[in-house]
Amino acid sequence: MIPRLTSQAPTLLTDSRARAAYAEGAGIYRTIPQAVAVPKSVAELQVLVRWAAETKTTLIPRGAGSGMPGGNVGRGVIADLSQGFGGVAVDPARRIARAGASATWAQVTDTARPYGLRLPPDPSSGAVATCGGMVATNAAGPRSVRFGSVRRWVEALDIVAANSATRTVRREGGAGPWHLASDTRHLVSRFPQTRKNSSGYALDAFAESGDELDLFIGSEGTLALVTAVEWRLDAIPPDQAGVALGFASLDALGEVVPYLVALNPSAVELLDRTLLSFVEQAGGVVPSGLACLLLVEFERETAAAARGVVSDAVRGLKPLTTHVETALDRAGLERLWGVRKLASPALARLPVTQRSLQVIEDGCVPLERLAEYIAGIRRASDHRGVPVAIFGHAGDGHVHVNALPDTTCPGWREALAGLYEDVTGLLVQLGGTPSGEHGDGRLRAGLLERFFGPEVMALFRDVKRAYDPLGILNPGVIIPAADWAPLADLKVGPDAAPIPDDIARRLRDIERSAAWAIPKLELAREP
Ligand SMILES: Cc1cc2nc3c(=O)[nH]c(=O)nc-3n(C[C@H](O)[C@H](O)[C@H](O)COP(=O)(O)OP(=O)(O)OC[C@H]3O[C@@H](n4cnc5c(N)ncnc54)[C@H](O)[C@@H]3O)c2cc1C
Repeated sequence: MIPRLTSQAPTLLTDSRARAAYAEGAGIYRTIPQAVAVPKSVAELQVLVRWAAETKTTLIPRGAGSGMPGGNVGRGVIADLSQGFGGVAVDPARRIARAGASATWAQVTDTARPYGLRLPPDPSSGAVATCGGMVATNAAGPRSVRFGSVRRWVEALDIVAANSATRTVRREGGAGPWHLASDTRHLVSRFPQTRKNSSGYALDAFAESGDELDLFIGSEGTLALVTAVEWRLDAIPPDQAGVALGFASLDALGEVVPYLVALNPSAVELLDRTLLSFVEQAGGVVPSGLACLLLVEFERETAAAARGVVSDAVRGLKPLTTHVETALDRAGLERLWGVRKLASPALARLPVTQRSLQVIEDGCVPLERLAEYIAGIRRASDHRGVPVAIFGHAGDGHVHVNALPDTTCPGWREALAGLYEDVTGLLVQLGGTPSGEHGDGRLRAGLLERFFGPEVMALFRDVKRAYDPLGILNPGVIIPAADWAPLADLKVGPDAAPIPDDIARRLRDIERSAAWAIPKLELAREP
């Protein structure tokens, strides 16, 4: 540990246990940082940023660490923003919640609920995901099929800029230091025409709104550090009903999903047969013989309306379904969602021979290409001999794909790299984006030119230079490092960077139980 630089600076922790505790987030990487700082106030964070600028030290902003593509790990100094910026206050009359960057989605929602309000996009990781992390990744969730990603719900951000100045950035607050020149505006038409996108800087949203707020949302800690968020809230709808629909073939999705989306659902979630088999092993009850299950939810003003639309969906899809289970009240819906809730823990508890690795986990395609995308993934998985589990937000054309290689088999890395390449090519061909909600991190930074083209990539570099001229904020994320190597520094296998056994075990436990809210310095204490 080295002493504070000034009386207002956070302590820089450089001992090996503290660094090891921050070497992993969710996702595939283990990278030991140079040091860790846990600022407890905006003033402390400003001192840290000023010091980083003076010493040309890179900072890796970090919330809970639940992000998948490696934006929360790196070789510089981790700035842990999950501790010092808590608190949520709701203004029910304005339907606004003001939350510190460390507050979680669950804390915002719990504070808003007594007023009949909620933050509609609902990441499955909402129990741990911080407001700073959600804004930085433009997070989304099952209900985004109706309510969009968090972008739509951010009214203002408090930031510490790369020059250490603080300011508030508002919706309708206009542009900042970067403008889209009129002769480059047409380039935004090259953005993927998908229902969701968390890849690149959101020049398309910026072109439409003229608000620099849109550049900060989804910028993954590369343009500024977020210290507080003003969220717009929405009324909790009075009634819900749902249905689980089973299909004998994944091909049915091409017809079924657009049909369901036209009925204005609040969730259309997919679980494929591989995932269903894990859910079964984890104690869930799953009907037999299904290629996939769709969990569909409708929110309406009255119970009759919610039940009516469920009946419409069941009737309309009768010729295609092999299993139907309706849920006409909240208890029934809880039962239906129980299957989905078992999915992530079931994946995390796989045997040591089969690790769940998130390398192609976040692709999103135009809705009408979803069935093609899923068929292509299955083909690539068979071809490369790497099993996959497919699940997630089918109603947005967005599915999570966890690769499940046997990491005790020689050649698994090459097979994984082949799968990464195949699925990337498939996404480009289908007009998709490599990230629907998790962001690019280090995993996808080097792919962006293939999706957006060199001219848009040049604009991304301009944006980065305008906001972070010294390149101290999360370099290598969104804009790739010169030595970009997406499948290096893995947390799995004999080449994984050595860290103390007890810390490695605790990090694995956190991953298995998605307990990312645990303060990481607890892991650094001697056992
Ligand atoms: C089991 C599981 C389920 C998940 N489900 C979903 C889901 O449904 N939807 C979804 O969108 N994601 C999901 N995720 C991914 C993850 O939870 C989200 O990306 C989340 O928003 C990350 O929040 P975090 O606080 O953990 O941020 P971190 O992982 O710590 O950081 C993520 C990125 O944000 C940046 N960042 C963090 N805080 C700040 C800040 N204050 N200022 C500036 N930059 C910052 C980091 O530099 C990094 O680039 C899931 C993850 C897990 C493990």
